[in-house]
Amino acid sequence: MEQRKWHQMGTEELAQSLRASLDSGLSQAEAAERLVSGGRNELSEGKKVSPVALFFNQFKDFMVLVLLGATLVSGLLGEYLDAITIVAIIVINAILGFVQEFRAEKSLRALKELSAPAAKVLRDGVVKAIPASELVPGDIVLLESGDRIPADLRLIETSSCYAEESALTGESVPVGKHCQPISAEDIPLGDQKNTGFMGTMITRGSAKGIVIRTGMATEMGKIAELIQQTETMDTPLQHRLEQLGKILIVVALGLTVMVVVAGILHGQPPYEMFLAGVSLAVAAIPEGLPAIVTIALALGVQRMIKRRAIVRKLPSVETLGCASVICSDKTGTLTQNKMTVTRIWIGGRELDVTGEGYEPQGAVFEAGKPVDVKQDQSLRRLLQVAALCNNAQLIQSEPEGESKRGKKGQPVVQAEEWTLKGDPTEGALTVLAAKLGVSAKSLESLYKREKEFSFDSERKRMSVLVTHQGGRLVCTKGAPDVLMEQCSYVLWDGKVVPFTPTLKQKVNAAGEAMAQQALRVLGFAYRDLRQTDRYESEDDVECQLIFVGLTGMIDPPRKEVRDSIATCRRAGIKTVMITGDHQLTAEAIAGQLGIIPRGGLTLSGQQLAAMDEEKLDSVVDNVYVYARVSPEHKLRIVKALQRKGHVVAMTGDGVNDAPAIKAADIGIAMGITGTDVSKEASSLVLSDDNFATIVSAIEEGRGIYENIRKFIRYLLASNVGEILTMFLAMMAGLPLPLVPIQILWVNLVTDGLPAMALGVDQAEKDLMQHKPRSAKENIFARRLGWKIISRGILIGVCTLGAFWLTLREDPGNPAKLVEAQTVAFATLVMAQLIHVFDCRSSRSIFHRNIFQNKYLVLAVLSSLLLMIGVLYIEPLQPIFKTVPIGFREWCLVLVAAGIPTFLMGIGSVLGTTEKKKKNNRNHNRPLAPSKPAA
Ligand code: ATP
Repeated sequence: MEQRKWHQMGTEELAQSLRASLDSGLSQAEAAERLVSGGRNELSEGKKVSPVALFFNQFKDFMVLVLLGATLVSGLLGEYLDAITIVAIIVINAILGFVQEFRAEKSLRALKELSAPAAKVLRDGVVKAIPASELVPGDIVLLESGDRIPADLRLIETSSCYAEESALTGESVPVGKHCQPISAEDIPLGDQKNTGFMGTMITRGSAKGIVIRTGMATEMGKIAELIQQTETMDTPLQHRLEQLGKILIVVALGLTVMVVVAGILHGQPPYEMFLAGVSLAVAAIPEGLPAIVTIALALGVQRMIKRRAIVRKLPSVETLGCASVICSDKTGTLTQNKMTVTRIWIGGRELDVTGEGYEPQGAVFEAGKPVDVKQDQSLRRLLQVAALCNNAQLIQSEPEGESKRGKKGQPVVQAEEWTLKGDPTEGALTVLAAKLGVSAKSLESLYKREKEFSFDSERKRMSVLVTHQGGRLVCTKGAPDVLMEQCSYVLWDGKVVPFTPTLKQKVNAAGEAMAQQALRVLGFAYRDLRQTDRYESEDDVECQLIFVGLTGMIDPPRKEVRDSIATCRRAGIKTVMITGDHQLTAEAIAGQLGIIPRGGLTLSGQQLAAMDEEKLDSVVDNVYVYARVSPEHKLRIVKALQRKGHVVAMTGDGVNDAPAIKAADIGIAMGITGTDVSKEASSLVLSDDNFATIVSAIEEGRGIYENIRKFIRYLLASNVGEILTMFLAMMAGLPLPLVPIQILWVNLVTDGLPAMALGVDQAEKDLMQHKPRSAKENIFARRLGWKIISRGILIGVCTLGAFWLTLREDPGNPAKLVEAQTVAFATLVMAQLIHVFDCRSSRSIFHRNIFQNKYLVLAVLSSLLLMIGVLYIEPLQPIFKTVPIGFREWCLVLVAAGIPTFLMGIGSVLGTTEKKKKNNRNHNRPLAPSKPAA
């Protein structure tokens, strides 16, 4: 008999067909076997560039083609040595280019793997997170709101579950999912409501499903090619540099033509001038720039990973350096997300709870006296609601069988470790209930959960419907202000009484008092349903509730965040807290962290909703805390800040945060608590959910940009110097100061290695002490263009000067010419190798320890050694047209090469002194009063 379709089967039949247990899932061994036989759960990748292809791609470069042409000409003219040397240079160049690009490609791939999706799966009876690619048919997968479905699943349990399937069906409205069999055999995908499809996402509720198809066998696999959009990884800077490269090609070619024409007019041999022209053009065009930029970006990204920030979109690395506002969630990002209930309020009574951490040890006191929980009906009711309306699990890890040895060899008794699974807010309530003798286990046998109306940041509440001794009970918890609106009664002194405005006021006052102490406040309510009551929707059950009381939980700020916020302030970056929590709680935490300066405002979601865009724009610059906001408000805040010209970094974790994350200049998702959807919308993921990590990433972003500027400064000044040396010589009617092969050598060795080392240079100390750069800033801004031109001119003039001083001793002698060319070659190389240290500082060489960047020291030493080799190793001398030079020439070389750095250094010192004097004059004036950080 033909097997029935998956959607037609009941759960038992499914389990049988897939040989899986619904209670414990597959065994690890069985899953491993199925993975081998059925293959990984992956869509086949788009075309990858093979290393061989990458190598040959290097020869497609325009400049390489020019060089190949030159080789051909040299060969045809019988200049075999020239031809062979140029070919060798091309090959070395290609190898360098290949290594650079291969490395960049590899780090980009590693990044992709890091952000690969995970799945929660039941194996051997335990729920664990595994890479989605390891799922096999028969696996039981757990899904909740915000998850992307990792394979095709037949749903076996659902709770208010909705999925957004537009990627597959084009239907943009989320469809309700259920787990009942559907009898019809052939139905369109959109109607298979008991099936979850790979790549679609759960927008609400939760579900459990059994994997029926994986990888290319899934519905998504069938259309895989359609959805494989490769994201463009080029950053705006790379793009701009490419454009710049094109301009430079034209300029370099123009100048080269002038050099060649001037040379020939002054009687230089045409073949020599042709080769010199080609070499000069090759040297003048910074063809390595894009690759070095990619490497600087990719290596920077790896450093960020070490600092726990995962970059998903390369362009954001650049934007990070421009960030002027960070909008951060409170819970878990600014705070530790380790909640502990310390206060309870019921019917006008204030109780204190003792005990720390997740260990269920502690007691409850009223006015200093212990409370007998067993006798306290109201308190028991609150604990019951807190434990039932809860999905967190408190787990005691097994005490280790063998005792461990301590430092001095004595056995140490291992403390019992308690861990929490699930939402920390709910975890704190589970711990509270367990402390006071209401365990989840004992309730499980008495109450059976029938339905859940899940929590989300929009509703700010959650309810469950449980059956108990034939009756039905609704338990609800949520933000007190929201919950009270659903309550008609209140439990006061053990009795249920109408919830009058006076009593509501009392509850409000109690909640606010807790919030002012930075406590996160939750309210609890319940209701017994009558036989006739409906219980289909949340509106049916979340009404006419009986309010029980409040809990207040501490969630201490993360220790490192206060410093990070201070760093941000010094760096001209504003920190804004956006939270769903109560305004007073938010303000209290913001105060502890030093977020709100004097005169800074707080806005509530309600106030925000009442403002139009114009009004919001007029205050947005002065608001530091947004409280009780819904995710949709975040988008308005991002847009308002952007209208004010800010570059906005915005964090988020939920499904509804995705639009704001997408709209922000830098969308940041949480690696631990974030949903798949928020991660996919983001450009940066924090693997530790920590605010301080954002600041580290910004610091790296600024550092990377400065490093790119450093090597652009070095490369372009070197190129200007090379062209100018030749150009001025030809204009002055002098012979060639550098022979073609020397120019190519300088281009390859002196320019390449040190520039790469500059790309990984350490940041300057004051990196986070100045304002963010403007996103529109030109790469040559802040006098970089001037520095390049002036240094290029100095290098050119000094090289030519050294050449002329040597040549003029015996101008007609060909041997003297070779010596003068060698001196010019050595001067040019030395001037660049000294200049590279200058480039590390925005001021001058004297402002930084020149040995700090070991790669640079190594690169410079190897360039230096290679040059000495070219000068003093005899077989190399005819190839590079050099002669060994003596002490006197070396003195000339070093003086000429040192002059540019010396002159620029003096200029910078004078500039700094002038600035200091000006600052001192300003400091002596009385300062405007400013409030220290709260
Ligand atoms: P942030 O946006 O900074 O992460 P948050 O985590 O406090 O803030 P939400 O998770 O949106 O924001 O919570 C908003 C309010 O909803 C909380 O102040 C709390 O009163 C209530 N709440 C939080 N978690 C739950 C839950 N699991 N069940 C019921 N109510 C909850």
